[in-house]
Amino acid sequence: RAKTLGKNHWKIYSDQVDDSERSDLSLESAMYQGIENGEFMLHYQPIFCAQTGQLRGAEALMRWKNPNQGFIPPIKFIPLAENSGLIKILGAWALRSACYQAKQWQNAGLKDFYISVNVSPRQFVQEDFLEMINGVLSESGLLPQNLMLEITEGVLMENPQRSGEILTQLHVAGVKIAIDDFGTGYSSLAYLKKFPLSVLKIDKSFVDDVINCAKDMAIIGTILSLAEGLNLMVVAEGVENDAQLGFLKQEGCNLVQGYLTGRPVHSEDFKDKYLA
Ligand code: C2E
Ligand code: MG
Ligand code: MG
Ligand code: MG
Repeated sequence: RAKTLGKNHWKIYSDQVDDSERSDLSLESAMYQGIENGEFMLHYQPIFCAQTGQLRGAEALMRWKNPNQGFIPPIKFIPLAENSGLIKILGAWALRSACYQAKQWQNAGLKDFYISVNVSPRQFVQEDFLEMINGVLSESGLLPQNLMLEITEGVLMENPQRSGEILTQLHVAGVKIAIDDFGTGYSSLAYLKKFPLSVLKIDKSFVDDVINCAKDMAIIGTILSLAEGLNLMVVAEGVENDAQLGFLKQEGCNLVQGYLTGRPVHSEDFKDKYLA
């Protein structure tokens, strides 16, 4: 259709648009192919008690290894999967795999271990989401309190009515909810009062510079006291050094996740590292 536009400057413009559309399209079809070929897998990043250093759970993080392009990062393919609707397939697969994996590790000795799974906005509001969660829980045998779903503030703000219904039903079912990247979204504090949440995940951007930046210190301190008052647990994300860990521990942060305490790893490596 670019060709029918004729005029040269229009054509140049259209060619550029077509290029990015084409690359999205080819990535999308590569994704279809990749699902069929089993190119997607989950890595697991450990989450520890900040105070005792005890392993408490793990976040499941999606990985895509394409035979031609190598590892394609989630920030590249998740938005595309979200737009194309493929996220429903990928998301359901991730939830299922993560729950079975967590149950297996519990059976192998990790008591009260929880698994945290990212849920994208479109996936969260799909009609059969609750059905899917309940199905995965009953089939895997994982207790609902050992499943944490990570959603972002944007999900709650975009569709508060529908989100509220889903969150209430998940809460009744016993499933835990975490707000991912807390403090970075376009949101209001009112939802903390309105919705049944369990965990706030402090975004890495506040943790990065916390040792040198009084503002980040104040923000993290405030999130921690807010969470305490609301009876929520806090996970600090992106902890990379001892100074950050020391600060978080001293301020009473509950849980930590980051390269310092453990990178996301393949399930086999997770087992070797963290199971006796
Ligand atoms: P997120 O859920 O906030 O995940 C945390 C990201 O921070 C992960 O990036 C993790 O590898 C990285 N990270 C953890 N600790 C550190 C650290 O100490 N330093 C640094 N530099 N990075 C750290 P990853 O795996 O690339 O995932 C990026 C985002 O993609 C995730 O952010 C999440 O929003 C999305 N994502 C990943 N897997 C899934 C999935 O299964 N479903 C959905 N819907 N989204 C996913
Ligand atoms: Mg997350
Ligand atoms: Mg995050
Ligand atoms: Mg994120």
